Amino acid sequence: MSDRDVELLSIGSELLLGETVDTNAAFLGAELARIGLRLRLVRQLPDDVGIIADAFAEARGRRAVVLATGGLGPTHDDLTRDGLAGSLGEPLTEDPALRAELEERFRAYGRMPASNLRQAMVIPSAEILPNPIGSASGWWVERDGSVTVLLPGVPAEMRRMWTEEVRPRIARRFTLPPLVIRTVKAFGIGESMAAERLGDLLDAPPHGVEAGIYARDDGVHVRFSTAGDPGLLDEPVAAALDALGDDAYGTDDDDLASAVLGALGRGGVATLATWEADTGGALLAILAATSPAEGSARFVGGLLDAGGAASAPIADVLLQLALPAQDAHGRSRVEVAMSGRIPLARRTLRIHGSGPQRLRRAAFAALDAVRRELSSSDR
Ligand code: ATP
Ligand code: MG
Repeated sequence: MSDRDVELLSIGSELLLGETVDTNAAFLGAELARIGLRLRLVRQLPDDVGIIADAFAEARGRRAVVLATGGLGPTHDDLTRDGLAGSLGEPLTEDPALRAELEERFRAYGRMPASNLRQAMVIPSAEILPNPIGSASGWWVERDGSVTVLLPGVPAEMRRMWTEEVRPRIARRFTLPPLVIRTVKAFGIGESMAAERLGDLLDAPPHGVEAGIYARDDGVHVRFSTAGDPGLLDEPVAAALDALGDDAYGTDDDDLASAVLGALGRGGVATLATWEADTGGALLAILAATSPAEGSARFVGGLLDAGGAASAPIADVLLQLALPAQDAHGRSRVEVAMSGRIPLARRTLRIHGSGPQRLRRAAFAALDAVRRELSSSDR
């Protein structure tokens, strides 16, 4: 058992019915990685006390830390407390202070429903974690060398309790070096082609470094992480940038739109307008969400699907994007051109994906075409 390994139990039948998406797991996975712990397994469990008790017993047997969210409410189907108590063989008894607190909470609404008393029940080894924004308190349980934490299911309550109560306790108990993450970003190259070019950087990264590759709307992200010296990442990041060559557009917080606006600014362009067809305004949305940096070109507006009727906003350059319907094989092409101070001859580019991702990729493909044009004229 590695002392960095965490297991999460996402509790609630609604998760298994597909009525609620387990966003708590996504949040906690990212948070745990940031503090140097590793989420190894997520199990979604129904509101069944036997299944919950067994899952706690199994998880506690193999992990240093077990987290659970959900099932801390007042109703008969909120069984997380009962499940953990059962698996530990500890009795549930009413905590007078917790009961007084709950009654105080309810005073504004009149009498507290009797069922809420369930939320005042605790076991001897539980330390209560306060929940000032809801009625479900959390539990911190240390026993037999492992830690079990119960968090509310409501995402806002869970996040607050994690940040204010749980994360600091975990950091104190495990004295973990933080995980450092560096990302190299590329566009216009598929995930498998990128992986081929990166070769050993992905398959056999330097000792103490983990590597991964992910296809995102804005291209391929190559991620290097380490719990050791952050300097360990300098070399793989440089090597990845080198291997991806012209396809790489930045690292870490860099984004395509900022890169393009910056390059246009350096090329003497003060303002950019766009004109896009059949993209649902994806290009406009991306550019409008990009905060302007000093010396960059400014986005002054976009026109959607105007069919040539209206005139575009006045700007130094006008970036035009059209996304014709997918062909019979489901392939998409985008047409990109730019006119004005820095012209870009019309070109057709292939993109992959469907639905909203297809629209955003079309927009990123247009930005990437401008980026490539400007980086080749820089040289
Ligand atoms: P409460 O006292 O507020 O009922 P609880 O701990 O009992 O808290 P649940 O009843 O299990 O929480 O869930 C409350 C709501 O929180 C659910 O209806 C759902 O909307 C949301 N929720 C629960 N679990 C998750 C999860 N894993 N990911 C995202 N949302 C969740
Ligand atoms: Mg509930």
